Amino acid sequence: MTGKQDYYEILGVAKDASAADIKSAYRKLALKYHPDRVVESEKKTAEEKFKKISESYAVLSDPQKRQQYDQFGHAGIDSRYSTEDIFRGADFGDFSDILRSAFAGMGGFSGSFGGGRERQETSRGQDIEMRLTVTLEEAFSGTEKEIGYARAKKCQVCGGTGAKAGTKPSTCPMCRGKGSITEGSFIFSMQRPCPECAGRGQIIKHKCPSCAGHGLVKKRETLKIKVPRGVISGTSLRVKDKGYESPEGVAGNLYVLVEVRPHQNFERHENDLYTKIEIPFPVAVLGGTIKAHAINKTVQMKIPPHCPSGQIFRLHGYGMPRLNAAYSGDLFVTVSIYVPKKVPAEAKKLLEEYMKIMEQEEKPFYKNLFG
Ligand SMILES: [Zn+2]
Ligand SMILES: [Zn+2]
Repeated sequence: MTGKQDYYEILGVAKDASAADIKSAYRKLALKYHPDRVVESEKKTAEEKFKKISESYAVLSDPQKRQQYDQFGHAGIDSRYSTEDIFRGADFGDFSDILRSAFAGMGGFSGSFGGGRERQETSRGQDIEMRLTVTLEEAFSGTEKEIGYARAKKCQVCGGTGAKAGTKPSTCPMCRGKGSITEGSFIFSMQRPCPECAGRGQIIKHKCPSCAGHGLVKKRETLKIKVPRGVISGTSLRVKDKGYESPEGVAGNLYVLVEVRPHQNFERHENDLYTKIEIPFPVAVLGGTIKAHAINKTVQMKIPPHCPSGQIFRLHGYGMPRLNAAYSGDLFVTVSIYVPKKVPAEAKKLLEEYMKIMEQEEKPFYKNLFG
């Protein structure tokens, strides 16, 4: 085959890469392009890419095939091995699970991994993903949220068969009830859902009027979601079997992607929180105890004498609880000097007096400012 991309190039490794380098390059790419890990619109491209990198790895991880390839290029491989052979000899070791799940997602395959997936698996209901926004306070203490969403449920009228009462679906003549057809032999023989029966293996002549023959109807549901304390943005909560139901197989899952809303007073970095506080000038000079606000309580915070503006204090354990752990992060409090907008005449007089005294006391500093 001409125009085939170089295996080393595909894996992004040098010609003299070690077996370990090749393995790690493949692992990275396989995870990146795993069809289960990309969004729906990129699935096709990812599948192609995944096939390519897997083929490259299959050849380059086999010393004999690699030598053959180094010497004769693609011609050396293609003239000697069928695509099935390439994979049969390859040692995917701990990758075989990644591969199996990837190709199963593509519609099953019968290759060197002992057959594709069974029909009841491919008829698993669709997964649903939805977003849920919580406040930082809710993330702090954990919460329960009620969500409403629509999902396909088995039609109660026909029990999911899609056939009108008193009638029965008949076996699909095209796939003979298997629900899938086998085609091609590029790398693997791929199984695709049968176009005649849309993968169901059965043809419905008299459709159930309630679900129009789909066996499923869309229903709105509400569900209580437990959001764990310490949850971080991007956490995906899996609710088993709450995705689309399937007429004959198991239901898909619901994935709730949590987003924690930014907070007015606190900035979060992992489990630590950052906040700011203003203190009166005399406290900064003389020291004192003030109230600092953590997320759900106040903390007595000691300010030492001579505390400069911008000083950061670390309060251990007053940050966010760590997800699924017993300990918490810290609270970092940055101190600044509070400047009053209004000063009573008496206080003004005292400040002027203060200035006079300090001018003598800290000459270089004042001179530098006022000459
Ligand atoms: Zn129905
Ligand atoms: Zn069919």
